[in-house]
Amino acid sequence: MIRVPFLDLAASQAPLTAELDEAWQRVTRSARYVGGPVVEEFEDAWAGASGVGHAVGVGNGTDAIELALRGLGLGPGDEVLVPANTFIATAEAVVAVGAVPRFIDVDPATMLVTPEAVEAGTTPRTAAVIVVHLYGQAADMTAIADVARRTGIAVVEDCAQAQGARWNGRPVGSFGVAGCTSFYPGKNLGAFGDGGALVTDDAALARRVRQLADHGRALDSKYEHPLVGRNSRLDAVQAAVLSVKLPHLGSWNEQRRSASRQYAERLSGFSGVRLTEQSPGSESVHHLEVVRVPGRDEVRAALLAAGIETGIHYPVPCHRQAGYLQFPHQDLQVTEGSSPHLLSLPLFPGITGQQVDLVCDELLRALEHQTATVGTHRP
Ligand SMILES: *Cc1c(COP(=O)(O)O)cnc(C)c1O
Repeated sequence: MIRVPFLDLAASQAPLTAELDEAWQRVTRSARYVGGPVVEEFEDAWAGASGVGHAVGVGNGTDAIELALRGLGLGPGDEVLVPANTFIATAEAVVAVGAVPRFIDVDPATMLVTPEAVEAGTTPRTAAVIVVHLYGQAADMTAIADVARRTGIAVVEDCAQAQGARWNGRPVGSFGVAGCTSFYPGKNLGAFGDGGALVTDDAALARRVRQLADHGRALDSKYEHPLVGRNSRLDAVQAAVLSVKLPHLGSWNEQRRSASRQYAERLSGFSGVRLTEQSPGSESVHHLEVVRVPGRDEVRAALLAAGIETGIHYPVPCHRQAGYLQFPHQDLQVTEGSSPHLLSLPLFPGITGQQVDLVCDELLRALEHQTATVGTHRP
């Protein structure tokens, strides 16, 4: 029996049932299913929430990154820096445009890209870095933007796990030339299917991406295709759902924050558990509650036996994935040393204090058992 699911989307959505039904009816009445006013309305709201001038809705988060790179003119011959500790989609988007991902290491405390790694990973072929605001935290955009300016590379932000997060008070996605996000159902702001968006203050880039995502079509002419594009558009049903949910993102993120505080309070005194540290400039939205523990797989099995679901983000770093062995990488000591220990605990809006307590009780019990039987070391 599952007592604490890893993620429960139904809990936070239930109070919105009537509004979501109405949103669906708005779309059927409008009879505009791809693009159209419902999509434009959400794009404007998302640009506003992101603190930038333009948002372009696209098919998913991976496409948003790919289209950003394509819109910047990146392709064969270019290298793009990507943290090895991220979801594979970040690297996949680079390969999709014919560029080469070069994997760089992350900070041992936050597990995020560092300015030092960006600097050390930059070669004469480097055209851009994709900064991933992983687990809901914001990476150090001040220092990374400084390095990028000095070395002349573009900064693209992968904000798929950080909707609503801020760096020094400013929304993630507004620092780089483009910010990309995913509305996959499990993200902090999720649609009822796939969806994504790119935000930027660069009007020309926004126009180019909009064209590329719509068969390279001219924006003012239905039958002219000045660019070779593809099809990656946000549909009106997803946009309508997202417009209903967006006003609640702040309170959902607050619920995640408070559950995460409770985890930190309960777990911080125990040497067997290493929490992911939050850097002072980062206002995290706690997409994931990632800790590091010894004997992770045994601990995970013990939690499951106690009815607690967990995840791993990520068990195999990008550069170790079979399809990606061909790509260059830095010394990845932190990524490699951490991956066997990473464990994501249940965290979602609506998780109760009792559920968090139960997870902590069972986690500490599993770790105690382990210490008693095999001895342990701090990961
Ligand atoms: C989810 C995610 C993506 C990709 O989003 P899709 O919509 O699934 O294509 C990219 N990067 C990160 C860090 C993600 O978590």
